[in-house]
Amino acid sequence: MSGSWEVVIGLEIHAQLATKSKIFSGASTAYGAEPNTQACLVDLGYPGVLPVLNAEVVRMATKFGLAVNATVAKRSVFARKNYFYPDLPKGYQISQYELPIVEHGELFIVDADGNHKRIGITRAHLEEDAGKSIHEGLAKSSGIDLNRAGTPLLEIVSEPDLRSAKDAVAYMRKIHTLVRYLGISDGNMQEGSFRCDANVSVRPRGQEELGTRTEIKNLNSFRFVEKAINFEIDRQIEVIEDGGKVVQETRLYDSDKDETRPMRSKEEANDYRYFPDPDLLPVEIDAAYIEAVRESLPELPDAKQQRFAAEYGLKTDDAAILVSTRALADYFEAVVAATDASAQIVANWVIGDLIGALKRGGAGIEASNISAAELAGLLDRIADNTISGKIAKEVFEAMWAGEGSAAEIIDAKGLKQITDSSAIEAIVDQVIEANPGQVAEYKSGKEKLIGFFVGKVMKETGGKANPGQVNAILKDKLK
Ligand code: ADP
Ligand code: MG
Repeated sequence: MSGSWEVVIGLEIHAQLATKSKIFSGASTAYGAEPNTQACLVDLGYPGVLPVLNAEVVRMATKFGLAVNATVAKRSVFARKNYFYPDLPKGYQISQYELPIVEHGELFIVDADGNHKRIGITRAHLEEDAGKSIHEGLAKSSGIDLNRAGTPLLEIVSEPDLRSAKDAVAYMRKIHTLVRYLGISDGNMQEGSFRCDANVSVRPRGQEELGTRTEIKNLNSFRFVEKAINFEIDRQIEVIEDGGKVVQETRLYDSDKDETRPMRSKEEANDYRYFPDPDLLPVEIDAAYIEAVRESLPELPDAKQQRFAAEYGLKTDDAAILVSTRALADYFEAVVAATDASAQIVANWVIGDLIGALKRGGAGIEASNISAAELAGLLDRIADNTISGKIAKEVFEAMWAGEGSAAEIIDAKGLKQITDSSAIEAIVDQVIEANPGQVAEYKSGKEKLIGFFVGKVMKETGGKANPGQVNAILKDKLK
């Protein structure tokens, strides 16, 4: 159905900045406190109080701007966005409007066909979050929790350059990885620290002019972003193909029903009456400040991925997985530095066994039961032929369960590989003698049977015979 239609998407991502205190007050930003215990007079919007800008948010926004190759404005201005809502006691949100701190950035994603695609970042501006309305557990009233009021946000607005739900997710993941690399947001999506609004439209393929868009609000998981956008694409195409018109409106995604529903239309849209906030000075930074921030940037994910591929000869996909967080990349490099095994073997173990084990417990690399040095210890035992790769899986599981180091477990369980050729030869002889039928078939050309013989020998030795030696000796004896 979507064949003759082109999908156009632009995302507005809200990343909560990881400061200790709020953007304009000294109240704590910690998540999960008792309602209204972390809102001071400024956050409550009392008359006569004045906001004071937290310098850290300027540094964080600057870091982001430099990381996406954007222009960081030497002068940016806070503006009041006026609207009424119970969770916004001042009657306006302090945001940036005409002069945001970051403009004209870019990011590269890999789309579903494996092509690299440039996604423009229109702007990123600083603003304060609102409070929260609470309905749960309250019978006939609503509660207001202002702990979140005044929490710093960086709103990152993309150009309408995304062409599918998958593109949108790839872009959002990249921003997510990036803000965590930069240490400017914890990216915790369950807690709402990283969420997005998706603007979606469709147009006949080949048409220049953009179609009418709808905006799906407050998506807080990658899965919901993909599902909500796909639902919305199908809905819009159906509306148009049935002879109707898409109405520009704000919609909400209902994950239980997997559908979007209208929230408010353009006619009801607010006129925010933006104007510069008279309580706050323009933010002025100079070139020296920007350069100092540039100096402080860590190696960024794309650069790290390229270095991993070049320096360690890793497959691109493997490098991409290993750089998904700084902690995982550091772990990988620590193992490589400590072991004699090749970098690709380290990558295989980290991506396969280690990440697999971590996923079972739902944890990140920080919670690994096996340290980089311990994993290096295991891989060294494969490299020096103490154990086979297969036995190593068993040792890995025992290490994960806390049974000791690789060397201790190999000793305790008697897993040391048999590399004594005369011992292997004796077992090979037994196996050949016990299976005359297969020997005859093998000799008449059915060489695939080598696997059968190897299996028998491995079984006899409890998997401990060196597989390379077993193969060589078998082939020799079956000639
Ligand atoms: P607003 O401030 O009203 O939300 P903006 O013009 O700032 O509007 O756009 C917000 C987001 O919507 C941006 O990410 C932009 O790329 C995207 N966008 C704008 N027009 C369209 C469209 N026709 N289809 C899809 N996305 C769009
Ligand atoms: Mg918008």
